[in-house]
Amino acid sequence: MGDLYYHAQQAFIGIIMSTLLSWNQLADRALAGEIISREEARAVLRAPDQVLLEQLAAAYRVRRHYWGNRVRLHYLLNAQSGLCPEDCHYCSQSKISTAEIDKYPLMAQQKILDAAARAAELKAGTFCLVISGRSPGERVFKEVLDTVRAIKSNYDLKICACLGLLNQEQTQRLAEAGVDRVNHNLNTSEQYHADICTTHTFDDRAQTVQNVKAAGITTCSGGIIGMGESDDDIIDLALSLRKLEVTSVPINFLIPIAGTRFEEVQELNPRKCLRVLCLYRFLLPFQEIRIAGGREVHLRSLQPLGLYAANSIFVGDYLTTPGQAAHADWDMIRDAGFVLEAADGSPLEEASTLEPMALA
Ligand code: SF4
Repeated sequence: MGDLYYHAQQAFIGIIMSTLLSWNQLADRALAGEIISREEARAVLRAPDQVLLEQLAAAYRVRRHYWGNRVRLHYLLNAQSGLCPEDCHYCSQSKISTAEIDKYPLMAQQKILDAAARAAELKAGTFCLVISGRSPGERVFKEVLDTVRAIKSNYDLKICACLGLLNQEQTQRLAEAGVDRVNHNLNTSEQYHADICTTHTFDDRAQTVQNVKAAGITTCSGGIIGMGESDDDIIDLALSLRKLEVTSVPINFLIPIAGTRFEEVQELNPRKCLRVLCLYRFLLPFQEIRIAGGREVHLRSLQPLGLYAANSIFVGDYLTTPGQAAHADWDMIRDAGFVLEAADGSPLEEASTLEPMALA
């Protein structure tokens, strides 16, 4: 009952705040480099559905200023799957998961090169090479470095490596091998982290991001929404990413996979996901914001609206779940008036004169 009253009260505050707030003022402040207040951030997340198109239109003003109408495509390869000693409650590759997934050690180099060729064929500018595990051992790490060099000499792709926790020496070696960026997600707020994982800490993750930055590699770090966290946790995650000056921010929406500890957690709908994307655009105005895992499952028919706040998506499959067909992604982007972006950041297609529909 107490909970019910609290949520009703919070929803009421959200509605009052959203009628008082001008979303365009939030966009103006984001564009001026100012940070919006916590109350305003809460109001973005708690606003009624009736104002969602206005929120998206305001978020698009910020997105357009930094990214135009271009959409970056990333291609992800799970090059080593499962068998991970960590206990991340959302992850089907964890030792505590009983999910039925393929489990395999690091793929042979040729198989990874074939996947890089596929990434280029699907018009992805970035190839994301992901391996499961807490942190790579020396043998696997050396193989990854060799493979990175081989990809770099064969394809015009940026490489993002996602290898778990990394120390300074490892990030330095990745930089020398030509890795363009390293992904390591903070996942959630510092406060909520112990509720999603007990085998490593939020600080461990933040330290890896700092090590990546110290090596001069572009930082990629984001989170997962829909794991039972509060609105303040969603806000705190964005503030932590802002403080760490992260360049690229993947936002995943939890797919509750059978066999994981969060298999029963179901708290997302497409409108909530869009509000989260708007909030992240206001708090992380010039960062590359990517709609990552859960896009098809949770945004469903509203996926194109997500592009008004985010400027990047994955094409192809995710770590252990399938994505929609690449041509469906290209069609979605073009139909809504956006254009694909090349690896160098330029528009990839003639259609660059198109503009997305105005929402408000
Ligand atoms: S998220 Fe990474 S570290 Fe955590 S269980 Fe999954 S593979 Fe292991």
